[in-house]
Amino acid sequence: MSTLEPPLALLAELTHRCPLQCPYCSNPLELDRASGELDTANWIRVLAEAAAIGILQVHFSGGEPTARKDLPAIVRAAAESGLYSNLITSGVLLDERSLATLVEAGLDHAQLSFQDVEPANADRIGGFKGGHRRKLEVARLIKAAGLPLTLNFVVHRQNLERLPQMIALGLDFGAQRIEIAHVQYYGWGLVNRDALLPSRVQLDAATEEVETARLRLKGRLVIDYVVPDYYAARPKACMGGWARRFINITPAGLALPCHAAQSLPGFDFPSVRTHSLADIWQSSPAFLRFRGTEWMAEPCRSCERREIDWGGCRCQAFALTGDAARTDPACALSPDHGVMEAAVAARGGEPPPFRYRRIGAVETA
Ligand code: SF4
Ligand code: SF4
Repeated sequence: MSTLEPPLALLAELTHRCPLQCPYCSNPLELDRASGELDTANWIRVLAEAAAIGILQVHFSGGEPTARKDLPAIVRAAAESGLYSNLITSGVLLDERSLATLVEAGLDHAQLSFQDVEPANADRIGGFKGGHRRKLEVARLIKAAGLPLTLNFVVHRQNLERLPQMIALGLDFGAQRIEIAHVQYYGWGLVNRDALLPSRVQLDAATEEVETARLRLKGRLVIDYVVPDYYAARPKACMGGWARRFINITPAGLALPCHAAQSLPGFDFPSVRTHSLADIWQSSPAFLRFRGTEWMAEPCRSCERREIDWGGCRCQAFALTGDAARTDPACALSPDHGVMEAAVAARGGEPPPFRYRRIGAVETA
């Protein structure tokens, strides 16, 4: 790459602690413990470094970022560094006072996640009783506090039929944006794939519903829509390409090109405790490993889409083939595409019980 642009955004995973236990959580199977979390001073330094290298936005996520008592100080540091800040939250730990503190500290935007619109099913999916009722209240508080609001729904075979009501909820709350994101099948999502993967019929109906709603609500509500790879012929440009658009910091301070990259073996991901963000972005071997197109083998190497989708997702390639350098099996040109077709063919019948996201719920090597 001749000129390296700075990342568009920093994804700050402040903690893996979370009261919910979603079976599709994007956190790794091996969760960071609270005792190993980066402290306030280090986060404040990292935010200043992010602004200095030209990053414009920070997304505070987790786990549940509001589980950190020092969140207002961290938000304030982002504001003072000139970063636009977005809080990605389940909402269940927020109340009027804590929200006011965050707004006063300079928070710019809130993204509130929902598991469903049907309360009992929402609480079952999140593994947190009373969570849905709390979220409805927190959505109202966010609007009352004057913050722009995005509602986020992760959709799958066990809630997809209520897509119209999800969009209606976004309208009811006066959200600027609603994100309908199909589960991505890495980490916890892959563990629970048979319980979550929709049928082709469900997916097509959902896609049509979204397209109709986008036309009907043009100018009132923006609907972002993320589809699952399993029915695709070509992969997504995962994270806009490895180490091209985003930098992710784990609760313990490791810098990753995407939140799932810790699943890849043989990588020595750099820590922000010992390396500057500028050095990590420009020259860390882990970030250079799959940046650009030099690493590609066929069929990607000679493909005209290689600078469009960048060969798809490295973590998905590893999870499904055991080799992170192979073409993403989501691509119909991949010699491994059959593993996705087999997973689709095997789904059906009653969904198996969820394996909830919690420490020790899945054996890890
Ligand atoms: S996906 Fe669910 S379990 Fe994971 S961090 Fe978000 S709310 Fe918590
Ligand atoms: S062969 Fe590689 S570059 Fe071409 S479409 Fe498939 S994943 Fe993308």
